[in-house]
Amino acid sequence: MNRIAIIGGGISGLSAALRVHELAAEQRRDVQITLLEASDRLGGVLQTEQIGEYLVEHAADMWITNKSEAMQLCEKLGLTERLIPTNAQFRKSLVLRNGKAHPVPEGFQLMVPEQAWPMVRSPLLSWRGKLRLLAEAFVRSRRDGADESLADFVRRRCGDETFERLVQPLVGGIYTADPEKLSLKATLPRFIEMEQEHGSLIRASRHQPRDRSRNESSGTSGARYGLFVSLANGIEELVSTLSRRVAEFADVRCSTSVRAVRPADALNVGWALLPVSACTNADGQECPSYEHFDAVILAVPSFIAASLLANECPTLSAELKRIEYASTVVVASGHKLADIEHPLDAFGLVIPHIERRKVLAVSFTSRKFPGRAPDGHVLLRTFIGGALQPELCDLDDTAVLELVRRELHELLGARGEPDFVNVYRHTRAMPQYYVGHLDLIARIQTAVAQFSGLALAGNYLAGVGIPDSIASGEAAAGQVMKRL
Ligand SMILES: Cc1cc2nc3c(=O)[nH]c(=O)nc-3n(C[C@H](O)[C@H](O)[C@H](O)COP(=O)(O)OP(=O)(O)OC[C@H]3O[C@@H](n4cnc5c(N)ncnc54)[C@H](O)[C@@H]3O)c2cc1C
Repeated sequence: MNRIAIIGGGISGLSAALRVHELAAEQRRDVQITLLEASDRLGGVLQTEQIGEYLVEHAADMWITNKSEAMQLCEKLGLTERLIPTNAQFRKSLVLRNGKAHPVPEGFQLMVPEQAWPMVRSPLLSWRGKLRLLAEAFVRSRRDGADESLADFVRRRCGDETFERLVQPLVGGIYTADPEKLSLKATLPRFIEMEQEHGSLIRASRHQPRDRSRNESSGTSGARYGLFVSLANGIEELVSTLSRRVAEFADVRCSTSVRAVRPADALNVGWALLPVSACTNADGQECPSYEHFDAVILAVPSFIAASLLANECPTLSAELKRIEYASTVVVASGHKLADIEHPLDAFGLVIPHIERRKVLAVSFTSRKFPGRAPDGHVLLRTFIGGALQPELCDLDDTAVLELVRRELHELLGARGEPDFVNVYRHTRAMPQYYVGHLDLIARIQTAVAQFSGLALAGNYLAGVGIPDSIASGEAAAGQVMKRL
């Protein structure tokens, strides 16, 4: 019997648990899995709350389907029938320019204008900015394969204005990042491939086969919204179904924070964990404060993994500590449609940093999916903070609510009292993929490989989205099962 501990019960840790169980069955090995979670619930940042007739996501509200892991997980859990696509009627983003919301030109996907005419007619760029963007087709390509920041890449290829007015808010919204530091190679490598293969993003978009993904993006702007899905009862449906499944085979202990992790002997074989809080198992017996396992998967943010390993694995811990995180505050509010002047004919509004406003973006959440707000009402989620305005996350709830009320009034013409308003704080929740991130992760994985029976999972390794987190958990499961 091998004992495997998984620390962290977010989507990464839960996925790791399921995969270990599957591999053990495939390999006919007897494995006992223990999942230790610090909070009193599983799911990590993923959480859905029913507030009257509103269905409110605390963090993620959809995931992309061109990375297969989340879809395969839904299939395994019998959730495929529960998947819902985004509402085709409103598949576009708005961007603020001089205080006014304008649609992203049709066919503009993150940084590539797939169609020229909507770009030419858009008020989001000046004539000079448009000409510079269209000249992208003639900019010499860089082929040295070096890592570059998003800001440097877009300024070089598309010009300053496209960067400041379109790409910074659209991409910054996804990563809550400072684009001057964000590694393009680690986050959006397909744009580097487009440059390297075709010499230009515009030329590359012309060469794209008219495949499914192209169809998915037709009629959309901002992101390829046709590729995103959620579940009828929200993301919690994935988390709760997966948690129930994991509880069938694993010893799941919530409210159990782990304080330290150390190799059990000088040969680095086996691991000992020190859970901080006393806990009782399903039979009501008290768990010992040190527990021994044959392998351990750390499915916690990198700064927590760093502190767990600090005493025993200082080199690995120091590398993990180098990854920075940004915080964000999400304010969810329910409104009567009649109380909002703007038609809200999009999935949301993103705000360029140069507009000097206090909000990053407003998601018109109930425009994306059905069943998120009662008829005649709308659910908004306003994002503040991120890497560029971290000080706003330090405001207390009263100040946050006042700020959001004022901004929603000025940006969208929101009046009257909302049906409800809630504040969700995500402190150090978004890992920042700085230039050089891929090299840093390679060094971390090399250091991990020195310790048999240790693996890492989480959204700081190979992508921040839900499918990436699932993939990281599954990969960690594969690594420990191989090394046992
Ligand atoms: C506001 C926001 C919006 C997002 N929107 C989207 C979106 O629309 N689409 C998308 O695909 N992705 C989105 N993401 C990203 C995605 O949701 C996350 O990357 C993913 O859910 C992270 O999962 P995780 O399991 O790696 O980490 P977490 O969810 O952070 O889980 C880590 C777990 O470890 C536990 N833990 C910590 N320390 C200890 C300890 N010492 N002992 C035991 N347990 C511990 C924590 O309590 C937590 O439950 C969003 C993220 C945020 C914050």
